[in-house]
This record gives sequence, structure tokens and C-alpha cells, in this order.
Amino acid sequence: MEPIYEGKAKRLYTTDNPNVLRMEYKDDATAGNGAKKASFENKGKLNKAITLLIYQMLESKGVATHLISDVDEVCLDVQKVSIIPLEVIVRNIAAGSFSRRTGVKEGTRFSKPIVEFSYKDDALGDPFINDDYARELGAATEEESRFLKQQALTVNEVLIDFFNQAGLTLVDFKLEFGRLVSNPSKIVLADEISPDTCRLWDSKTGAKMDKDRFRLGLGNVMEGYKEVLTRLQNKNA
Ligand code: UDP
Repeated sequence: MEPIYEGKAKRLYTTDNPNVLRMEYKDDATAGNGAKKASFENKGKLNKAITLLIYQMLESKGVATHLISDVDEVCLDVQKVSIIPLEVIVRNIAAGSFSRRTGVKEGTRFSKPIVEFSYKDDALGDPFINDDYARELGAATEEESRFLKQQALTVNEVLIDFFNQAGLTLVDFKLEFGRLVSNPSKIVLADEISPDTCRLWDSKTGAKMDKDRFRLGLGNVMEGYKEVLTRLQNKNA
């Protein structure tokens, strides 16, 4: 196995099969486009386990993902994709950059979910763009942008219910999609869905159980992630 890519929170290795990659979840965390860095013991393990649970559940609801199989504590085998350079963000409740940009108070619930795109480019700081930009940047055709939004809304509906059953409120989250290298016309959900990429609040107390604990320096970061995993596992038990 050769490492072929290392990102902020994951590493990718080749396997014997050219269409399959091994994805290793790391303990490293960054926030603010790399301005804040840290490592949290067990983060890789927790995020791998949470993503696996969620992707298996999404597959059972007919959402195609890159997941092939569970490998070990920190690795999953996934289909090799060419990542579409868009972060597809879904918001149910105002928080984070939405509140900073608009002044709308954190916690304000939207009448309908918001879907937005950021252009994946670290040097540019992942700027907010729309589907016309995505078309002209060659990131996604208009038809693909429509498909990504529709998939994101489907994932949102399924996840709201899934997290609800675990006593968690899904505030917002980020998705990434890729085109299968073995069949580029097929777009699947890639990357991860974990407390690194979702805002999750305890439904009763409103406590933040996600990466905001790191971003905002609230402490007990992994305790939040562990609690998310335990609740999702117990809900499935
Ligand atoms: N998000 C992410 N990666 C990014 C940017 C955002 O996973 O590079 C997730 C983030 O965890 C949150 C949602 O997308 O659940 C919306 O993030 P927002 O735009 O509010 O950005 P932030 O306030 O984190 O800068």
C-alpha cells in the first residue's frame, strides 16, 4: 500500500485494485482554514466509526456513497473517485459562517433548509460561490449542481431523523461528492460525515457535541464525539 494523498484529517493509500483506495482517519484536526491545529487521541477511530454507521445507513436508504468495506479501527476501503471541488453545505439552523456573514443569531431555525456551495481551494480560503460560478470554474455542470443539491437535501432529511433518534439536532453539515474513476458519469457521496463536518447539538440541553468545541476552545472535544458515537450505536442496538 502506497500513500497517495494526505489531507488535514485523512490519508489515502492505493490497494491491489486500481479502483479502490484505503482511507485512514487521522487524529489531527484543523480549524479556520488551518489557522488552528491540534491532535486528539482517538479522533480518527471515532470519526471512522461514525462515518461508517452513517454511510451504511445512507446506502440502505438508496444514497450512493464511496464506501466499500470496514477495514480496521481507523481505515475504510472506498471507491476511487475524482473529487468535485465543491463543498456542499446544508443548513437547518443559523450558525458559523452564516451567522457571521448575515448577523442572524445562532440558533435561528430556517423555514426551509439552505444549500450552498464553497469552492474547494485552500489558497483562496474555500470561497462561497453559486452554481453559475461552479459551471464557469468547470467544477460542476448545471445538471450536476442540481443533482448535488437534490442529493444534499435527501441526505439532510435522512440525517435529521437519524440524529433525532439519538437525541441530537442537526444544525448544519458539509458534503463532498466524487465521480467514480471506474464510471465517471456516476457521482457518489465521498469524504466523511462526522462531528468534524456536522454541527450537532444535544436536543435537550443545546450543548455543542461537534468540532465547534475545538473551534471555540470549549474543551472536552473528544467527549462530545464519543457521546455522538455511543448514542448512534445505542439507537441501532
Ligand atoms: N464545514 C466543514 N469543512 C469546511 C467548512 C465547513 O466540514 O471546510 C462544515 C462545518 O463543520 C459546519 C458546516 O460545514 O457543520 C457549515 O460550516 P460554516 O460555513 O458555518 O463554516 P465555519 O463557521 O465552520 O467556518
